[in-house]
Amino acid sequence: MRAFAYEALPGRVVFGVGSLDRLAEEVERLGVAKALVLSTPQQREQAEDVAARLGARSAGVFDKAEMHVPVEVARAARDEAKRLGADACVAVGGGSTTGLGKAIALEFGLPIIAVPTTYAGSEMTPIWGLTEDGIKKTGRDPKVLPTTVVYDPNLTLTLPDFIAGPSGMNAIAHCVEAIYSETANPIISMMAEEGVRALARALPVVVREPGNIEARSDALYGAYLSGASLGAVGMALHHKLCHTLGGSFNLPHAETHTAVIPHVTAYNAAAAPEMVERMSRALGTDDPAGALFDLAKSLGAKMALSEIGMKEEDLDRAADIATQNPYFNPRPVTRDGIRALLDDAFHGRRPAAA
Ligand code: NAD
Repeated sequence: MRAFAYEALPGRVVFGVGSLDRLAEEVERLGVAKALVLSTPQQREQAEDVAARLGARSAGVFDKAEMHVPVEVARAARDEAKRLGADACVAVGGGSTTGLGKAIALEFGLPIIAVPTTYAGSEMTPIWGLTEDGIKKTGRDPKVLPTTVVYDPNLTLTLPDFIAGPSGMNAIAHCVEAIYSETANPIISMMAEEGVRALARALPVVVREPGNIEARSDALYGAYLSGASLGAVGMALHHKLCHTLGGSFNLPHAETHTAVIPHVTAYNAAAAPEMVERMSRALGTDDPAGALFDLAKSLGAKMALSEIGMKEEDLDRAADIATQNPYFNPRPVTRDGIRALLDDAFHGRRPAAA
């Protein structure tokens, strides 16, 4: 076995159907007096329900969370937290809402209690992001790692199939890159493999039978494992590419991950045998790249970057940006290689079997 170093991240996870009923107890357990409840405008109702459950321990609801945490929104949320004397945040929602909680925690160091409602996985990571003048800065800081995460699959019942599918594929992408990470270790790789297994099994059922709570639970369990993988080890080409496509070309986050991950899996396959072995086992295939493509397609996802806002004339610039600064990847990142990969993803071609 390869030598490794593994630093486990702290954090308490409460998982299960109906676990939202335990939120007030969890907030009390942390000695929180007044928690600001965060959400997107679309999830205001869910946030109000959470605030009501917290009773006197709720400082109120701030419902302006937005994708990629614009710095103006972060400032407004910090001002509101200060004005209300909040000593914690309860983030009810997906990665955008958890991200807003992290922006507040980064400034004030207060605890976050995350109540995830998508499969993005941000709740398990110490990674923050803030967008100013169209440029997203990200960093790692233990201060922003949520203290407690309450996973209640009931909250994902309202997640429509067109969000659930890509969100689940986004989670799978964290797992793929965790397994071949420069800082990979067998504990996280085991979690990542199990995350893919759970998500690949559950997502088709979630899309076909939205009310199936067993499948919703399984998918959320997979998302938890994928978030934990993302939080613990470094990522590579896939996350770099998606960051470029989202940041410089304004493509939607989870949909971009969905269209790109089969191609990055194919690109890295020959250089990442453990990833191929674990992904093959988890997906029941000997062609994980093709299987990821087929899985995403079966979920109704758009598999061509051209369908989600990418312009063909921007592919060269995307390849330039993504290969400007060196970073770790199991297979060397060449400009020609990335340009060809982007071409395949742009046209939504199924990756050829290795
Ligand atoms: P999101 O949080 O933007 O949610 C997408 C939409 O779905 C929103 O309108 C939201 O209100 C709605 N929604 C969420 N849950 C719902 C539910 N159960 N029912 C109905 N509607 C629901 O999307 P996301 O993909 O979860 O997060 C994306 C953001 O998170 C990106 O900015 C990404 O960079 C960030 N992210 C960060 C990390 C990290 O570790 N820092 C990890 C993953 C993603």
